[in-house]
Amino acid sequence: MASLSTQSVTDVHHWNESLFSFKTTRDQSLKFENGHFLMLGLEVEGKPLMRAYSIASPNYGDELEFLSIKVADGALTSRLQNIKVGDEVFVSSKPTGTLVVDHLLEGRNLYLISTGTGLAPFISIIQDPDVYERFDNVILTHGVRYASELAYQNFINEQLPENEFFGEDVKKKLIYYPTVTREEFKTQGRLTQLMSSGKMFTDIGLEKPNPDTDRFMICGSPSMLKDTCQILNDWGFEESRQGIKGHYVIERAFVE
Ligand SMILES: Cc1cc2nc3c(=O)[nH]c(=O)nc-3n(C[C@H](O)[C@H](O)[C@H](O)COP(=O)(O)OP(=O)(O)OC[C@H]3O[C@@H](n4cnc5c(N)ncnc54)[C@H](O)[C@@H]3O)c2cc1C
Repeated sequence: MASLSTQSVTDVHHWNESLFSFKTTRDQSLKFENGHFLMLGLEVEGKPLMRAYSIASPNYGDELEFLSIKVADGALTSRLQNIKVGDEVFVSSKPTGTLVVDHLLEGRNLYLISTGTGLAPFISIIQDPDVYERFDNVILTHGVRYASELAYQNFINEQLPENEFFGEDVKKKLIYYPTVTREEFKTQGRLTQLMSSGKMFTDIGLEKPNPDTDRFMICGSPSMLKDTCQILNDWGFEESRQGIKGHYVIERAFVE
């Protein structure tokens, strides 16, 4: 395993009973690309207990930020959900992953398709000024069961458009498309259904995606990834593999 550093928790925010986010200090020697994940954990019975975590903060940030599930009997998150400012966590020194814009061919529209904590890497990516240089539209989708799981709404809708460096690009190019499956909300249904029916594209005012102009980054449960890949493959899209650029990239948000 890559070597571990110890970082201090600087902020904790509980979104609801199943989801929280937190910030930690960052060694400036830790380099990563927006969209990467690393191993994060706590000391349990004298040993590090580590799990994969996407980095939600941008690679130029002074701190690291993470969005976490609370699994009641989860080995790590049953403990991690109780962290407080000043506590220490372990962070691995070698972030990695496939959800990076450089793995995509050039295109016009970038779709970020996420469910649950799969939103985390995209919170990093929507803070990357280079993404707005490369694409005309950046569409951030987030599928959840209940509206209280729509983390970062205020950040996306209110704070990011006021960013002093690239806020104007955000205002022009970022389209936020949240959807809820188990209660009333302005957009309801699974992202895969909204894609295959075409409703998503009608709602946001864009043409049905095609491999010439559209690019996808997908992060969600293994079954959501399978279904979304099937839709894209049927539409003629090809996944980036082994360093060869493609029309889309995927990463699991967790392992079942
Ligand atoms: C590449 C990668 C990136 C990841 N990034 C994140 C992240 O940014 N945030 C995060 O919370 N988790 C993330 N995970 C999942 C994470 O590694 C742990 O599984 C999670 O922290 C729970 O740990 P645990 O020890 O409490 O329970 P585990 O024993 O690891 O998991 C118990 C069960 O809980 C469920 N579960 C685990 N994680 C999730 C989740 N995120 N959403 C819904 N159900 C889940 C699964 O059914 C799993 O079998 C990622 C996993 C991978 C492979």
